[in-house]
Amino acid sequence: MSAPLHTDVLIVGGGIAGLWLVARLRRQGYATLLVERGALGGGQSVKSQGIIHGGTKYALHGALTGASEAIADMPGRWREALAGSGELDLRGVRLLSDAHYLWSPGTLAGNLTSFFASKAVRSRVAQVKGDDLPPALRHPRFKGKVYRLSELVVDVPSLIARLAELAGPELVAAERIEPLRDEGELVGLRLDGHEVRAQRIVLTAGAGNAELLRALGLSQPAMQLRPLHMVMLKGPTLRPLYAHCLGGGTKPRITVTSHPAADGQWVWYLGGALAEADGVARDSEQQIAAAKRELAELMPWLDLSEAHWATLRIDRAEPAQSGQARPDNAFLHDQGRLLVGWPTKLALAPDFAQRVEAALDRDGIHSAPAAPLPPLPRPALAAPFWEGLL
Ligand SMILES: Cc1cc2nc3c(=O)[nH]c(=O)nc-3n(C[C@H](O)[C@H](O)[C@H](O)COP(=O)(O)OP(=O)(O)OC[C@H]3O[C@@H](n4cnc5c(N)ncnc54)[C@H](O)[C@@H]3O)c2cc1C
Repeated sequence: MSAPLHTDVLIVGGGIAGLWLVARLRRQGYATLLVERGALGGGQSVKSQGIIHGGTKYALHGALTGASEAIADMPGRWREALAGSGELDLRGVRLLSDAHYLWSPGTLAGNLTSFFASKAVRSRVAQVKGDDLPPALRHPRFKGKVYRLSELVVDVPSLIARLAELAGPELVAAERIEPLRDEGELVGLRLDGHEVRAQRIVLTAGAGNAELLRALGLSQPAMQLRPLHMVMLKGPTLRPLYAHCLGGGTKPRITVTSHPAADGQWVWYLGGALAEADGVARDSEQQIAAAKRELAELMPWLDLSEAHWATLRIDRAEPAQSGQARPDNAFLHDQGRLLVGWPTKLALAPDFAQRVEAALDRDGIHSAPAAPLPPLPRPALAAPFWEGLL
């Protein structure tokens, strides 16, 4: 047991939300400390598809909803950060694609008619043909239409590594995280026995927030989990593809992103409707069979005879919504010294940090002189998840 340490903002959980926040607060001169119990990014963040949405896909049912409006300026904010001129300096983070595509196979014109009925959508998408098609779709047998969305795709492992760099020494690993109270009031946390007092405590532990709230004796804010059963494949014939393939409904039939494997091959990571409801009910073998059927129907020219396949089950953690609806912006709940939140999307990490900064400003939390850090190890970075599975 050591003497208590003080910090302005103590953050629990080193996914995109916690890491973006610690980097932002540090840049503004706050003393911060982020504690992670596993690997940085190893929750949902590294397992995400890395798409920096501008909300266009939510307009598939013909009108821009709250979701599409709230998220619309995220690609611009990320582009600035990636160029080094934004709210964080993310130069060096690998940009996998400068655009995400919307791909309508065959004869889905009806669906797209209502989509393009929205003026806001028309201004954000442009049809591409011929040599401008994504490499994986440039084939004489390809039929259908492809639209370029002004959304980017980032390599999440390199993003996590850069944010960890920006966080400097203020990242620590601890397994036991317990409340520290003074006369019943929460004043900090005990990290593997080390007392850390803080003006504000922010829980950004993703799916771990519910357990942390329980340990604090709180039941609000409530959390929802949306299970997904993703598919990945790696093979020598795969070329990069970043696209939502439209089905008949309001959700993409599949969403494909491509990730670089250490051996130089590409990994295709498949989400969208394939990974939801029916996909969750299937076992891994059935889910791989379903993905093979989808790809054979959509891209019959693909030779996947040498591909390796795997599936990954992962829950999206979000604030509880009625009818498991998708929340449409970053969520932050504050109660006194404690702030709890979910960015709800990787793309919305800047929005999440902005909400925390606004709460600190509102409450007049000012930076105190930086205190020494607890003698705890630094957490490791999560490895790209596909390396262990394929
Ligand atoms: C398959 C999938 C694909 C996705 N694709 C996209 C996409 O393309 N674009 C997009 O914008 N969003 C996407 N998302 C959503 C996005 O990944 C999440 O909204 C975002 O990563 C959540 O970040 P987070 O920091 O809140 O949580 P996490 O990344 O889950 O991080 C939480 C961290 O807290 C740690 N932790 C947990 N409990 C404790 C504890 N008790 N003490 C200390 N640490 C703890 C965990 O180890 C973890 O490191 C996707 C999600 C999934 C699952």
